[in-house]
Amino acid sequence: KWGEVREGLRRAVGASNYKSWIEPLEFDSLDDGVCTFRVATTFLGNYVSTNFGDQILFHLNRAGQTVQRLRFQTANIARPPASPAAEPAEPAAATDEVEFRPEARLTFDRFVVGKSNELAHAAARRVAEGGQVAFNPLFLHGGVGLGKTHLMHAVAHEIAQRDPSKKVIYISAESFMWRFITALREKKMMDFKQMFRSIDVLMVDDVQFIAGKESTQEEFFHTFNYLVDSGKQIIISADRSPADIRDLEDRIKSRLQCGLVVDLHPTDYELRVGILQSKIDYYEGIYPGVTIRDGVIDYLAHRIVTNVRVLEGAMTRLYAFASLVGREITVELAQDCLADIFKASDRKVSIDEIQRKVCDHFNIRVSDMIGPKRLRAYARPRQVAMYLCKQLTNRSLPEIGRHFGKRDHTTVIHGVRQIEKLMQTDSQLADDVTLLRRALEA
Ligand code: ADP
Ligand code: MG
Repeated sequence: KWGEVREGLRRAVGASNYKSWIEPLEFDSLDDGVCTFRVATTFLGNYVSTNFGDQILFHLNRAGQTVQRLRFQTANIARPPASPAAEPAEPAAATDEVEFRPEARLTFDRFVVGKSNELAHAAARRVAEGGQVAFNPLFLHGGVGLGKTHLMHAVAHEIAQRDPSKKVIYISAESFMWRFITALREKKMMDFKQMFRSIDVLMVDDVQFIAGKESTQEEFFHTFNYLVDSGKQIIISADRSPADIRDLEDRIKSRLQCGLVVDLHPTDYELRVGILQSKIDYYEGIYPGVTIRDGVIDYLAHRIVTNVRVLEGAMTRLYAFASLVGREITVELAQDCLADIFKASDRKVSIDEIQRKVCDHFNIRVSDMIGPKRLRAYARPRQVAMYLCKQLTNRSLPEIGRHFGKRDHTTVIHGVRQIEKLMQTDSQLADDVTLLRRALEA
């Protein structure tokens, strides 16, 4: 089966990515929804997991396997990377002070607030200002590039300004795990515990990473409880809600939920315009003399409906290019220079592709999904597809309706609401939607 999946992946990621990243993977086992690969280095595993994980999952599931999670196993995971050359940085010794200086540009001032992120923003602000512990923990979740890390750094800036004596630590869940593993190996658990328990504010980013990593979870849980019980503030981020993180112990889920859980929604057009406009000054600072014509911002906000990171990437490239060739930034320049980004973004906005992938996922035919059949086996996937079209494309509801053979758009509204509602309680459905969404956004 892996052979077949690899074929699909080769087409999906392109020949050169395939050769560098997918081909070296050695299939190990598939057990209880967890697919394990053997990899040469931790770096390779991490890289593949971050960049191609969703696509691998998608293709495995498409090939009829039920896989929820990927695992990349190095020869001996507890040993530090063997070949420093191929590795980014050697994981820090377990008990080095976790140094954290928030990135200068990631402040509240520079965070543009819109409908989709106002709650998360308000909550983060409150926590940063809070004399007494306001929401503990604050759990921020949302898709990639929507501002979770930005908000966490902003909280750190704000706290540092208000009370420099406070010890604020920000750490990715991955790095938490590394430190923990290293502490175990170096027999420095006491120091490790001591270090993490002496802080005032702990922020753990991308906590979904520790799903399935049992002993790391265990340690995280103790640290978490200790800090909360001593009245210290905790902020957690993840790419999905606590309830939707598989392979996370129930007791941890419930503790994560007992503070305030807020999500960052995908950006809407107005927010994208706002964010782009807010960055103009910044870019003009870096590329003095480059001017941007009216209409370009508007155009970009329409054309790029993915995440803020992609928007920023587009701006950076435009300014760099314009400055290089000594031209002003026009819509035509953007068209030339960002064709590949648009293409990637357009792929996302194709209703056909959403329909195809959803049908693949649920194992039904597109013609059955589009038709009027009321059978639940078709109705639910149809609603999921409508929901994804609403979320991932910039098409109007009537337009979406037409693609599903509906003459008016009330069916679409109903379908979207239905899925939104069901996802709250039906974790299987929520997982299906998350998986599809990530595969489509990849
Ligand atoms: P996440 O951690 O959710 O994946 P990040 O916080 O890293 O996303 O955000 C990705 C990029 O987009 C960062 O450069 C961040 O500054 C920028 N960004 C995200 N949301 C906003 C916003 N509302 N206003 C300004 N910049 C934003
Ligand atoms: Mg982040």
